Amino acid sequence: MSKHRLWRPAGYAPYWNEELETMPREKLKALQLKLLKETIALAYNSPYYRATFAAAGISPDSFKRLEDLKNLPFINKSTLRKRQETSPPYGDLTCVPSDDMVYLSASSGSTGVPTASPFTWQDFEEWQDYEARLFWSSGLRPSDVYCHSLQFTMFVGGPDVIGAMKVGAMCLWGGAIPSERLLDILQKWRVTAMWTTPSYAWYLGETAQAQGIDPMTDLAIRKIFVAGEPGGSIPETRQRIEALWGAELYDYYGLSDIFGACAGMCEAKEGLHWAEDHILVEVLDPDSGEEVSEGERGELVITSLKKRARPLIRFRTGDIVSYTTERCGCGRTHLRLHGVHGRVDDMLIISGINVFPSDIEKVVRQNHHLTGEYRLVVSEHKHLAQLTVEVERVEGFNSSAEQLAERVTVDIYRILGFKPQVAVLPPNSLERATHKAKRVVDLRKQ
Ligand SMILES: [Zn+2]
Repeated sequence: MSKHRLWRPAGYAPYWNEELETMPREKLKALQLKLLKETIALAYNSPYYRATFAAAGISPDSFKRLEDLKNLPFINKSTLRKRQETSPPYGDLTCVPSDDMVYLSASSGSTGVPTASPFTWQDFEEWQDYEARLFWSSGLRPSDVYCHSLQFTMFVGGPDVIGAMKVGAMCLWGGAIPSERLLDILQKWRVTAMWTTPSYAWYLGETAQAQGIDPMTDLAIRKIFVAGEPGGSIPETRQRIEALWGAELYDYYGLSDIFGACAGMCEAKEGLHWAEDHILVEVLDPDSGEEVSEGERGELVITSLKKRARPLIRFRTGDIVSYTTERCGCGRTHLRLHGVHGRVDDMLIISGINVFPSDIEKVVRQNHHLTGEYRLVVSEHKHLAQLTVEVERVEGFNSSAEQLAERVTVDIYRILGFKPQVAVLPPNSLERATHKAKRVVDLRKQ
C-alpha cells in the first residue's frame, strides 16, 4: 500500500469497521456507558452543564448506569441559542479552550438566528470516519464518482464530502448550483452517486427529461443519497424517484448541531442505522418525557458520546421518529430509525388524530394518476380543524376528477381513519421545490 493512500477496507468488504458495526448489543451498551461517563466528566468543564447537573443533584461519580441518563436535564435548540446570547460567541456548553477548536458550522433553523457548532480536530476526524462508515454501508466504493451537491457555506452538510473521499470515491465538490450546471457536471464526469433532498432529486430528474436528457440512459447515476425531508423513507416516494433515475435511493438523517449525516440506510434499505458508539439515542413521549416502545412514535433525543468541543447531552431534536434494535439483514446491530415522520411542530391534529404530512405523502405517491406533488391546507370550521389535500392529476388523465378525489379520500381514510377534503388540480398547479418542500399551509395562523 502506498504511504500516501488513506486507510480503507478492501472494495468488496461489507463493513467499514466490522467489529464496531456488528458488536453484540450488550457489548455496545457497555461501550456506551464508558463513553457516556467520559462525556459527563468532560461536561464539567462547561459552566452551563456544571450548573444544571449540580441543580439536578448529579456528580460524575454518581453516574453508574446508562439508565442514570434519565436524571439529566434536557436541552434543545433554544437552550443553544440562549446560552450563545449569554456567553458569546459559542455559548457556555463548550468544554475545551477555543484554541483547540478548528471548525465551526452554524445553522439558523426556523428562527433565523444561527447557532454555532464548534469542532476540535479530533471531533472533525471522528465525524468524517462516521460519514465514511455511512457511505460505505450504502455501497459507495472507490470506483464511484460522487457529486456533493449541497451548499458549503457554514453548513454542516458541506464537509461530509470528506467522508466520501475517505471511502476512496472520486469526489466533486459540486455545491448548491443551478440545475442546468449540475446536470452538465453529472453528464461530463460520468457521476455515479450524488446527495440532495428528495424533492430536488425528483425536480432534477424531471428537469433533465424536459431538456431531453433521460436520467436512466444518458446519465450514470446509480446511487442517490437524500436527507432533509421524510420522503426518502416513504417507500412510495422512494420508488418513484428510483424509477425516474434508474438508481438506488438511500435516506440519510442529519442534525445541524451534530453532523451532516447522523444515520443512513444500508443496502438493505430497512431503516437508517445510527453509529451508537458516537451517539446515544432516546425516543421519548414528547409530553411526558417517558421512553416509548420500539415501533412507536416519539421524539428523538440524542446524546453525543465522542464530541469534545461541545458535547450535546439529552438534546431534544423536535423530530418524531420510531425505531428498532433488531439486527438488520446486513448484519449490523446498531439501532435503526424507520425514518423521520415529521417535526413535532408539523404535526396536525385532525378529528383528534395525529397526522404528519408524510402520512398523506404515502397515499398521494402510490396513486399513478397523480403527479406526486401535494399541499395540505388547514382551515377552521366551527372550531374544528379541517384539512384539504391538494393534489395534481397527471398529464393525459381524462377520466373523472371527482372519482379520483374520492379514491384519494378513501385511501386516506383507510390508513389514517379520517376523511379530508381532496382537491384534484390540473398538472403543474403546485409550486415545485428546489430544496425543501413546504407542504403545509395553515390558514388558522394567518
Ligand atoms: Zn442494515
